[in-house]
Amino acid sequence: LHLDAALIQDVAVPLEREQANYLLNVLRLKDGDAVLVFNGRDGEWVAALVPSGRKQASLKLVRLAREQTPRPDLHYLFAPLKHARLDYMAQKAVEMGAGVLQPVLTRHTQVSRLNLDRLQANAVEAAEQCGILSLPEIRPELSLEVALSALEPERLLVFCDEDMEQSSPVAALAAAKPGPLALLIGPEGGFDEAERKRVLARPNTLRISLGPRILRADTAAVAALALVQATLGD
Ligand code: SAM
Repeated sequence: LHLDAALIQDVAVPLEREQANYLLNVLRLKDGDAVLVFNGRDGEWVAALVPSGRKQASLKLVRLAREQTPRPDLHYLFAPLKHARLDYMAQKAVEMGAGVLQPVLTRHTQVSRLNLDRLQANAVEAAEQCGILSLPEIRPELSLEVALSALEPERLLVFCDEDMEQSSPVAALAAAKPGPLALLIGPEGGFDEAERKRVLARPNTLRISLGPRILRADTAAVAALALVQATLGD
């Protein structure tokens, strides 16, 4: 359970109505039952449920179960998709180890106003699902140009490009020098030529193929993250 509060032993943390309802009426937990909680800052805690109404409860923190872990250093740059596909993309990116989610607006991006709260909710859900204690940072959307210039020069940008012909992206990634990494996936309509040139003009950029088929952007995200994980670890 993700709690938006400081976690300190012996302190009772009030639950939101929705959270209390879930624990009491969906999971049917009882007074004193144990729940694991985290807030993205203070590690994971065992807490005891203290009901105070049909849909009201607090949690009494009992002991630290796991120390806080650092946020993964993988930046994930993506053109926002619509609705459920964006939910999926955000969840999978977090599950697969992205630490920073950076939406990027491109010429063919179909979403111009992004719901950052929804993105955050998806990230929290994915972190809960995987037991990730450090919540990813969700950044507001930037133009491609600005997002590229905001990247530290030493961060390798792995640019997934469906126009790239390549026999082994694994070999290309494995040959890259170790260091911080960012992954760039384009919008449903792909990058236009000027954007592609702009990305490739950035020093420390590695263009890779994810195979001979043009993947949906949300599939490409999972494939690219799996490739990075399998090749470089983490
Ligand atoms: N129209 C489809 C959709 O609705 O999602 C396909 C979109 S594809 C052009 C979106 C992005 O996925 C591309 O900009 C690229 O970053 C990535 N991508 C898809 N297939 C790829 C491949 N075979 N190799 C590398 N990147 C790929």
